[in-house]
Amino acid sequence: LLDKDMSAEVVDSNPYSRLMALQRMGIVDNYERIREFSVAIVGIGGVGSVAAEMLTRCGIGRLLLYDYDKVELANMNRLFFRPEQAGMTKTDAAVQTLSDINPDVVLESYTLNITTIQGFETFMSSLKNKSFRPDKEGIGVDLVLSCVDNYEARMVVNQVVASGVDERTLKREGVCAASLPTTMGYNALKDFFPTMEMKPNPQCSNAACLERQVNKPGGAFSKKEYIL
Ligand code: ATP
Repeated sequence: LLDKDMSAEVVDSNPYSRLMALQRMGIVDNYERIREFSVAIVGIGGVGSVAAEMLTRCGIGRLLLYDYDKVELANMNRLFFRPEQAGMTKTDAAVQTLSDINPDVVLESYTLNITTIQGFETFMSSLKNKSFRPDKEGIGVDLVLSCVDNYEARMVVNQVVASGVDERTLKREGVCAASLPTTMGYNALKDFFPTMEMKPNPQCSNAACLERQVNKPGGAFSKKEYIL
């Protein structure tokens, strides 16, 4: 990816060289704008840790990492965590590893459960924190990646994203069954994709769900629609 006349020493002293190579090759315009973006990753497990590492290597501006768990030796098959990190929180261990990979990324570690009241409050306020780029309009993060492994946590992330990170529209009690897909039972051998009908709840507290119901008055939701 490097210019022929660019020595390794020059590359090391310029943190943007790696990124700019893609722009010089004409693959992307304004690649350096990646430095302006913040991404939140919820769940630093098999999926989240790989996403965090890729974004770090790409030179993202800021990463906010959320997980309640600690690193165990059983996680070593995931490649990302190292044996000497056993016992550390996953988010702290991730920050340690990622800052070695690319020290230019602003990394924030949040060891919390997003489904508890206190964890949820910290989750919400951290998403809205604009300190990274005070000049930038809008919300504090540009993208939230849901990399959790359970329905309850996915519900919380989907509610937050659907509400535009506006906690006034959130109602944490109860579940809007139509608001999110969870892991689907796709059978690759038979190329079978199960579908099911779900009745919308007219009293749903989720604004995105109500809007959807207006577009499909009285109709049942096909779960398949939500992943297409
Ligand atoms: P796989 O596809 O193998 O299941 P995955 O990344 O989907 O991989 P895990 O490796 O289990 O699943 O990672 C999910 C991560 O999400 C775990 O580290 C777990 O601690 C974290 N997690 C789950 N629920 C919450 C929650 N409510 N708050 C914070 N972190 C959570």
